[in-house]
Amino acid sequence: MKLKDFKGIGKTAMLEFIDAKNVFEDYYEISLQASKGLKWVPGTHAIFSIKDKELKGKKWRAFSIASTAEEGLILLGTRTGKNISNFKKKLINMSKGDLIKMRGPFGWFTLQDQESPLVMIGMGVGITPIRALLKQLDNNTDRKVDLVYSSVDHFMFEDMINETVKRNKSFDVHYVYTIEDTVNAYSELAKKHKNNAYYYISGSQKAIKSVKDTLKKLDIKKSCMIFDPFLGY
Ligand SMILES: Cc1cc2nc3c(=O)[nH]c(=O)nc-3n(C[C@H](O)[C@H](O)[C@H](O)COP(=O)(O)OP(=O)(O)OC[C@H]3O[C@@H](n4cnc5c(N)ncnc54)[C@H](O)[C@@H]3O)c2cc1C
Repeated sequence: MKLKDFKGIGKTAMLEFIDAKNVFEDYYEISLQASKGLKWVPGTHAIFSIKDKELKGKKWRAFSIASTAEEGLILLGTRTGKNISNFKKKLINMSKGDLIKMRGPFGWFTLQDQESPLVMIGMGVGITPIRALLKQLDNNTDRKVDLVYSSVDHFMFEDMINETVKRNKSFDVHYVYTIEDTVNAYSELAKKHKNNAYYYISGSQKAIKSVKDTLKKLDIKKSCMIFDPFLGY
């Protein structure tokens, strides 16, 4: 984490809500209109607030941005869980044109160099910042990218990922459903690439810690692991 990773924290923008798609059970993809000229580095996140006196509890949440600026919209991915929070209830029921305030984007879950192989480990909704990184790397056929994507039920953004993998021969995706298969998949990649790759780890705090511990046991240096330290989903 470097000072430059926080560069965007002072910036705010008002974004128009486009829609919230219920893509599977409690999974939602939310689209917001990116204001003209708005730029962000793929892999970053922002703080989204809803101004509403009636909204009880915390009126903001951090979300990773799943899209790139070239796509012209801010795409978010989330799960509501069984006990949906007041914030998410409000968010998924907004009307087209309603305003959401965004602080940022900023963050450190971004590309570190131009050439090292990348092992991306996306667990559940943790796939969101990885989708943006895959989009950024879409046309780069010189760089080995392996995605280990773990979910017990639904693989968000699966179509986009499959299209990318089909087009770009240097990309591979490993869909896994269990913890054991997840550990096996990224451990094999760690044994292959050792400290010559960057390992992007995204998921719940508990899942990130577990992956970090396993990679450490495989002698992967902390400086090769990139993760958002405070993910709350
Ligand atoms: C850098 C960063 C990026 C993130 N990116 C994403 C993203 O892309 N997508 C995403 O969905 N989330 C993301 N998050 C997490 C997000 O900010 C929220 O914390 C998360 O989605 C949960 O929000 P919520 O409104 O559902 O739950 P909250 O109301 O914020 O509650 C958080 C947790 O506490 C539990 N909880 C709440 N109240 C109680 C209670 N009274 N008793 C017991 N448990 C309780 C909830 O079940 C939930 O698991 C990110 C966080 C960070 C820091």
